[in-house]
Amino acid sequence: MTERHDFDLLVIGGGSAGVRCARMAAQRGARVALAEAAALGGTCVNVGCIPKKLYSYAAGYAEAFVESAGYGWDGPPPTLDWKRLKQARAKEIGRLNGVYGNLLKAAGVTVLEGWAKLDGPHTVSVGGKRHSARHIVLATGGMPHVPDVPGREFVVTSEQMFDLDPFPRRLVVVGGGYIACEMASIFHGLGAEVTLLQRGGGLLAGFDGDVRRFIASEMGRAGVEVKLNWPVEAITRHADGSLCVTSAHGSICDTDVVLYATGRKPLTAGLGLEAVGVALNDQGAVVVDADYRSSVPSIFAIGDISSSKQLTPVALAEAMALVDTLFGDGKRKVDYDLVPTAVFTHPNIGTVGLTEEQSRNEFGADDVEIYRSDFRSLRHTLSGSQERSLVKLVVRKSTDQVLGLHMVGPDAGEIVQGFAVAMRTGATKAVFDSTIGVHPTFAEEFVTLREPAVDD
Ligand code: NDP
Repeated sequence: MTERHDFDLLVIGGGSAGVRCARMAAQRGARVALAEAAALGGTCVNVGCIPKKLYSYAAGYAEAFVESAGYGWDGPPPTLDWKRLKQARAKEIGRLNGVYGNLLKAAGVTVLEGWAKLDGPHTVSVGGKRHSARHIVLATGGMPHVPDVPGREFVVTSEQMFDLDPFPRRLVVVGGGYIACEMASIFHGLGAEVTLLQRGGGLLAGFDGDVRRFIASEMGRAGVEVKLNWPVEAITRHADGSLCVTSAHGSICDTDVVLYATGRKPLTAGLGLEAVGVALNDQGAVVVDADYRSSVPSIFAIGDISSSKQLTPVALAEAMALVDTLFGDGKRKVDYDLVPTAVFTHPNIGTVGLTEEQSRNEFGADDVEIYRSDFRSLRHTLSGSQERSLVKLVVRKSTDQVLGLHMVGPDAGEIVQGFAVAMRTGATKAVFDSTIGVHPTFAEEFVTLREPAVDD
């Protein structure tokens, strides 16, 4: 390793990708610095996956309480102490920030606190001090994007949702992607009256068509008002502080909070990228080659700032592949196929592989077979809940390979993770069929789907 620079590697951004990259590089003997202006852990730990999942658990207790009556439990309805939940979450997030700090320290990474800006292909300024590095990694992630709609100053983004004060009795969510659907479900479960407004004709673009229709219907059944084809034209605020959301179809007034969950954009502003010549694509993401190298050979980018799959495990995988390229034998690569994912709506969605629509486009309609079951789970035979679940397999007829696996139901993320392993080995429908189920479980449905669905 060269001694010409202060560090072998300087990582900008202490989120999932940045911390993993810095830590792994340091463990391989590199002299590493990591610059971060806010709390360590990035979006996922501070205002994303982790607090979201904690609030999803919190919402689940309310559902479980209602359902427990069917199992013989009596008692007064519980009430949510929102302040206590926020405090508990903040304490846990603080603990995780500390864990990240300790991991970096233990690996020997120098943490530079402050905003980092590129001064050159090998130079970064942090809080007015210049540092040089042989390699620089951009890992600043992304930030919520709110379109230029009249009244945008009255709306909040997902990053403010965890600390709202007071708890929003009435909430309007704009958007129909991961964050909109999750937040709508979670805040409904926590006790808010929720309306979700999606500009297009369906939720969760890019997911399997059956899943998209099913979740809209299940969220509606649970009590979220889902309005499709409802593009928002303006947001206004009344003298009493309440908000009104208007579209060509009418208005929704007297709401307490309007959440805009209309996508996230790579965080590239203020990093000095243009001056140094780091190219961005038309989505504002850093353009990288297969080795995560930007248009400037000494500067790399990983995670949401450059990736088309904005998922924490993908960012972690990219970090490890990059460290292997820079400080190892370069054999480790990220396979972007068959990336499993879950949406923590109530009920959850889990998915891996191709949708029915993608499969038909890729292999032709005649070469694709669908296996599907829509049912009320055992748990709800006594709970009184009318919630239904969906399992679906997309199979290529000519090879029998399972191309896609989709579900809407409890613990979808947990279930799909295991099936993703099987699918990466190229599991066929015959392998699914010959696997003995675990009874009585939800997941056994995937190995007992016998008859292809007749096209509807
Ligand atoms: P998404 O890209 O998933 O969804 C954006 C939504 O906003 C779409 O429904 C889109 O509508 C709508 N939209 C976009 N622009 C406008 C506009 N100008 N006016 C009205 N609606 C608009 O973004 P999210 O913000 O939900 O999430 C960002 C990313 O974060 C996700 O893609 C995912 O990768 C990641 N994430 C992952 C999670 C998980 O793994 N569980 C959880 C949360 C986030 P249309 O469909 O019509 O384009």
